[in-house]
Amino acid sequence: MIKLAKKEECTGCGICTYKCPKSCITMNEDMTGGIYPVINKDNCIECHSCERICPILNPLTNTYPLKCYAAWNKDKQERQTSASGGVAIAIYKWAIKHDYLCIGVSMNSDFSVTYKIAQDEQQLSAFKNSKYVFSEPFYIYPELSKLLKQGKKAVIIGLPCQIAAFKKAFNKYNVIFIDLVCHGIVPTLYLKQHINFIEKQLEKDVARISFRAPEMGTETYHFTLYDKNDTIIYSKRTSEGESYNYGFHKAISYRENCYHCRFAQPQRCSDITLGDFHGLGKLAPCNYSEKKVSNILINSNQGLSLISDLIQNEILYAEERPVEEPIQGDFQLQRPSTKTKQRYDFEQLTKSSKSFNYDIIIQKVITKEKIREKKNKIIQFLKSASRKLIKLNSF
Ligand SMILES: Cc1cc2nc3c(=O)[nH]c(=O)nc-3n(C[C@H](O)[C@H](O)[C@H](O)COP(=O)(O)OP(=O)(O)OC[C@H]3O[C@@H](n4cnc5c(N)ncnc54)[C@H](O)[C@@H]3O)c2cc1C
Repeated sequence: MIKLAKKEECTGCGICTYKCPKSCITMNEDMTGGIYPVINKDNCIECHSCERICPILNPLTNTYPLKCYAAWNKDKQERQTSASGGVAIAIYKWAIKHDYLCIGVSMNSDFSVTYKIAQDEQQLSAFKNSKYVFSEPFYIYPELSKLLKQGKKAVIIGLPCQIAAFKKAFNKYNVIFIDLVCHGIVPTLYLKQHINFIEKQLEKDVARISFRAPEMGTETYHFTLYDKNDTIIYSKRTSEGESYNYGFHKAISYRENCYHCRFAQPQRCSDITLGDFHGLGKLAPCNYSEKKVSNILINSNQGLSLISDLIQNEILYAEERPVEEPIQGDFQLQRPSTKTKQRYDFEQLTKSSKSFNYDIIIQKVITKEKIREKKNKIIQFLKSASRKLIKLNSF
């Protein structure tokens, strides 16, 4: 009998669908928006190819980073419109110049995010900046396979669990694998419901969104909605009550597997790892702030040669840093996001609601947290008052 990865560990990479010789695995959305493989048992010949290729059931060997750079793109415009230092776009442009295919994600008009293959610079701008929602790699596996078999080279940038899947399938070809530091990903359904909720409140249609709007500075994490004329119609941060951001940044609304992530560790499955540089200056003196500075971890000689080329050609400003610095600075490079009380509330409310509605559930979670905070404040006040009373009585 076929046993795919357990639901709590399945990342939804869908590489099992690609490998199945009978095309009997499909990726289906469950009641709460999670996308998981489903096997049509009538057609399954039990060849176990799906199990063998699964990066959870049969993990790759990971490596500890060889080198670390703090870096940014010297092109101001590219840096400003990217999530952190604009290193990804520099790599993609290098790739186009050296005749590689560029693989990244862009958002579709229905706000789903899918992997695409870009072969020229014009297609690259849609890949820029973080999309804090589940991305679907499974649609491009067949096309990518065809192109690689024809002898094409590729650079793939994506989340670590997805890069592991790409690597399991395409490691024998000429591919440079680049993963992002990642703290978790949210089902597309939550985003769609939240946009719909705001559209109703504003009585306006949303045409485009940004999770880290460049107009506000991507480092401020403004969740921003635009209408068809590209005018901003909504822009808020978590501290201003933005509830999609609240769920994302407080690790409440991730796919279940993100809380058990095997890729959130210093050892990486890629040639290069990119992230925001947290902890910059903590282990060695540094004379600039960590604002819009990327962390580049070099995990292989192939990765080193690409990044060295970008530095030598003055595309990137880069300074070598201790490898331990970003690892100590960002817990995502040590362990997965942990489940908080708010996450457990979210799970319980999801289970007990008849039909899933993100905005209703997250508001209930926020209200419960506010009550908990008030209770804690009262308990702290009573504790400190009783300590003072005991002290007074002892005189
Ligand atoms: C969901 C998510 C969580 C992250 N969490 C952290 C974190 O905890 N700590 C940290 O240091 N960095 C994190 N990052 C990475 C960081 O935000 C930047 O993406 C990274 O530093 C690269 O920035 P850049 O300026 O070089 O390029 P950018 O232009 O900002 O990055 C673009 C690249 O990211 C890819 N990308 C964007 N969204 C997705 C997505 N949903 N799925 C797959 N690929 C995507 C694009 O395809 C492109 O290759 C996260 C990124 C994402 C998408």
